[in-house]
Amino acid sequence: EWVAAAGPREVLLASPRSFCAGVERAIGVVERALETGPVYVRRQIVHNAHVVADLEARGAVFVEEVDEVPERATVVLAAHGVAPSLRADAARRGLAVVDATCPLVAKVHSEVRRYAGRGDTVFLIGHADHEEVVGTRGEAPGRVVVVEDAEQAERVQPADPDHVAYVMQTTLAVDEAEQVAAVLRRRFPALTAPRSDDICYATTNRQRAVRELADATDLVLVVGSANSSNSVRLVEVAEREGTPAHLVEDAAAVDLRWLAGAARIGITAGASAPPSLVDDLVAALGGLGPLTVRSTAGAAEYVRFALPKESI
Ligand code: SF4
Repeated sequence: EWVAAAGPREVLLASPRSFCAGVERAIGVVERALETGPVYVRRQIVHNAHVVADLEARGAVFVEEVDEVPERATVVLAAHGVAPSLRADAARRGLAVVDATCPLVAKVHSEVRRYAGRGDTVFLIGHADHEEVVGTRGEAPGRVVVVEDAEQAERVQPADPDHVAYVMQTTLAVDEAEQVAAVLRRRFPALTAPRSDDICYATTNRQRAVRELADATDLVLVVGSANSSNSVRLVEVAEREGTPAHLVEDAAAVDLRWLAGAARIGITAGASAPPSLVDDLVAALGGLGPLTVRSTAGAAEYVRFALPKESI
C-alpha cells in the first residue's frame, strides 16, 4: 500500500529530453505522406508505442516487411535505417520509397561503405539484434563484425589486423562504448576511428542530463518504450549513478510503490518519446499531492533536419 510522502514533492525535468531532430523528421515524413494518400511504414517509424499508435490512428499502415506493401504504393523506411538490399527489394516491387533514415544513421552507413570499400574489416560496436545495427551491417555484410562488449572486443579476429576500422550504433551508452573502442585500439594499432562521433548528439546530451538528474534526485523515471535503445541506456546511466530508475511507457505504467520516500523525482524521456507523455506524467504526479516542478539547466539543442526531397 502506497503512503503519501509527508511534504511536497519536487519534480526535476532533465534538459534536454524527449524528441530529437531525427525522430521529429521521421514523424514529419509520415505526416507529410499521409496528406497525399495511403502510406505504408516498414517497422516502427521510431521505437515508441505511442507515436506508432497515433500515426496508425491517422491512417498509416505499419508492416514488418516491404513484401506486405501493395505494388506501387508508398512506403516509408523507418528512422533507424535499412540495409541496401531492402531498398532493392522495394524498388523491385515498384514502391515509392520515402526514406526517413536519420541523417546521423546515414552517416554511419557511409563510413561503413568507405572503410569496407577499401578492404577493411569494420567493427560495428552495438547490439546485434537492434534494427539500426541490422541495417548498418547490411552495407557490407561480409566485412562488418558486430562487437557487443569489451569481452567480444578482446576476442575478435579480423582477416587482416592492419586493415581494420570501427563504427558505432548511434544510441549506445557513451562510457560503455568508449571502453569497447579502447580495447580495439589497444589490440589493433592500425585501427581507423570515425572522423566524428557516431553516438549522436541527442544520445550524448540526454545521457549527460540524466546523470545530472540522478545525482540530484531520489528516483528517476525515464519515459520511453522498452525497445528504444537510447531510452533503456538512460535508465542504465541513472542506475550507474546509484539512483533507482525505471523505464515507463507512460504515466499509467508508474508503480506507486516506487514513489514511497522519493521526495525528489527526476523525469526524462528518450529521443523517441513524445513531450506530451512527460506533461501527462507530471500532471499525474501532481494529482497525488503538492508538487514543484523545475528543469535542469542543460545544453540547448538547435539541430534540425529538413524533410527528404521525396516527401516535399
Ligand atoms: Fe538520429 Fe540520434 Fe535521434 Fe537516432 S537518436 S534518430 S541517430 S538524432
